Amino acid sequence: MIKCSGKSVLKGIAIGRIYLYKKQEYVLKQETIENPEVEIERMEKAKETATEQLEELYQKALKEAGEEQAMIFDVHKMMLDDADYLDSIRGLIRDEKMNAEFAVNLTGENFAGIFASMDDEYMKARSADVLDISKRLIRILAGVGEEGIASEEPVVLLADDLSPSETVQMDKSKILAIVTKNGSTNSHTAILARSMNIPALVQTDVALLEEYSGAKAVVDGFSGTFIINPEEDELEKSVQKKMEYEKERTALQELKGKDNVTTDGRRINLYANIGNVSDVDKVLDSDAGGIGLFRSEFIYLGREDYPTEEEQFVIYKEVLSRMQGKKVIIRTLDIGADKQVDYFKLPHEENPAMGYRAIRICLDRPEVFKTQLRAIYRASAFGTAAIMFPMIISVKEIRKIKEIVEEVKTELTKEGISFNRVELGIMVETPAAAVISDELAKEVEFFSIGTNDLTQYTLAIDRQNQNLDNFYDSHHEAILRLIKMTVENGHKEGIWVGICGELASDTTLTKTFVDMGVDELSVSPTYVLSVRKAVRDI
Ligand code: PEP
Ligand code: MG
Repeated sequence: MIKCSGKSVLKGIAIGRIYLYKKQEYVLKQETIENPEVEIERMEKAKETATEQLEELYQKALKEAGEEQAMIFDVHKMMLDDADYLDSIRGLIRDEKMNAEFAVNLTGENFAGIFASMDDEYMKARSADVLDISKRLIRILAGVGEEGIASEEPVVLLADDLSPSETVQMDKSKILAIVTKNGSTNSHTAILARSMNIPALVQTDVALLEEYSGAKAVVDGFSGTFIINPEEDELEKSVQKKMEYEKERTALQELKGKDNVTTDGRRINLYANIGNVSDVDKVLDSDAGGIGLFRSEFIYLGREDYPTEEEQFVIYKEVLSRMQGKKVIIRTLDIGADKQVDYFKLPHEENPAMGYRAIRICLDRPEVFKTQLRAIYRASAFGTAAIMFPMIISVKEIRKIKEIVEEVKTELTKEGISFNRVELGIMVETPAAAVISDELAKEVEFFSIGTNDLTQYTLAIDRQNQNLDNFYDSHHEAILRLIKMTVENGHKEGIWVGICGELASDTTLTKTFVDMGVDELSVSPTYVLSVRKAVRDI
C-alpha cells in the first residue's frame, strides 16, 4: 500500500483502477529512405488502418450524436481516398526519397493551403479536414496512439498535469477521479473537474510509475489522500466514508423544487455554470434556476479550426431550448492565458494571464467576435439569452462592444432573421472594473463577479502557479470589500449583481453574500443544492 497526499479540488471518494495518462508527443523528422516501394507499402497499410478507425468513429458518432455529426468521418474517409492526395504522397516518397510521415505532412499542408485559399466557404473549411486526416495517418505511421482513455471501465486518471483542452476532450463517463502530480486548485482544469462532479487531487506527491497502471486505488477528496493498492481495512474505511457521503448527497435531493429563500424571506437566484451542451443535463438535474455562466470558450478548445456561426448557433440553440425559458447567460469567448488554441495563433507571452486574452482578442479581431454574437442572437429566439463580456476594465470597451452588438442586430434584421431581446452585462473580474463599477453600472444591465480572476489580479497571485496556492486567499478582506463595493454600485444604478466565480459555492460565505445584497449566485451544478441549503439555513 502506498499513501500519497495532494490538494483536493472536489470532495468525494472514488475507488477504482488507475489509468496512467501520458501525453503522446511526437516530433516529426525528415529522413531519407532507401527503399521507396517499402515506404509506399507502409503508407498504404497506414491508410487502411485510418479507414478502419474512421469507420468506427462514424458508427460511434452516429449512435451518440446523430447522422449530421457522423458525416464528418465519412467525408474524412472520402478525402483519404482522394487520388491527387495519395499521388502527391507517393510522388514525394518515390522522387524525393522522403519518409512517409514527412511526405504525408507536406502533402497535408500543401492541400490545406490550397483549400484555405478558395473562395467557397465550404471548400475553405475542408482545409482543417485534410490536416486532420494527415495527422491521423502520421500518428498511425509513427505508432503514436490517440490521446484519450483506452479502457472499457471507468478509471482513476493519473497524470502529470492536464490542460483544459485535454480535459474537455475526455470521455467523462470513463473517469471516476483525477489525480495529478502538478496543477493548481484554481485552474480551469480544476474547475472542469468540479463541474464534472468527480473527485480530484492536484499537486500529489506520487511517482508516475508504469507499474501503477491497473492497480486498485482510492481517491479521498476530503483528506486529499491517494492510496495505491489499499489494504483491506483501509479499503473498508473508504467504502464506508463513500456511502456516508452519498447518503448526505441524497438528503440534499429533498431540497429540489424548494425556494432559495432565507428564513426572513430574502430570496436569491441560484444558477449553474457550464462549459458545454453536455453539462445541461447536470444543470437540469441540479434544479438550478438558470445558467449564470456558460464558458463559451470551451466550444473553441480541442479543435483544429474556428467553430463556424452555424456550429455555434446549433450549440446555443440547444442549450437555450433545453433550459425552456430559464435564463442562460453566455459569456463571450475568454480565450488566452491557460486556455490556448493553436489556430488563434496567439503570440508567445511572458505573462499570459495579464496578456492578450478574452475581450481584448475579441475587440482586436471583430470578425471572430461578430461570428459568436450573430450565433448567440440567432439562438436567442429559442429561449431567454443574456450575454456577458469577460475581463472588462473600462467604459470605452463596453461602448465599443455595444456598437458591435448594434451592428450585428442591424445585419440580422436586414437579413430577416428574428431574435429576442438579450440582456447585456459584464464580468467584474479585474480590480479596475470593481473600482469603477459606479461608472460601468450606467452602461450595462447586470454585473457578474468573477472571483477567480478578481482574486488573482487583486492579490497579484497567478491562479495557475501551484507554488502560490497557499497564498491564493479568496477570503482576503480586499476581495470581500471589492465585492461589496460592486454590489452597492450596481444597486445604485438599479442593476442586479451576481457572483459566478468559484467563491459563490463557498457556503461559509453564503450569509456574507446575502448580507451584502448579492442577487444571484452561479455555481457548478454539483453545488447548487448545498448552496440552497446554506441560503435556507440563514
Ligand atoms: C472568474 O474569473 O471568476 C470566472 C468565473 O471566469 P474564469 O474562471 O473562467 O476565468
Ligand atoms: Mg475569469
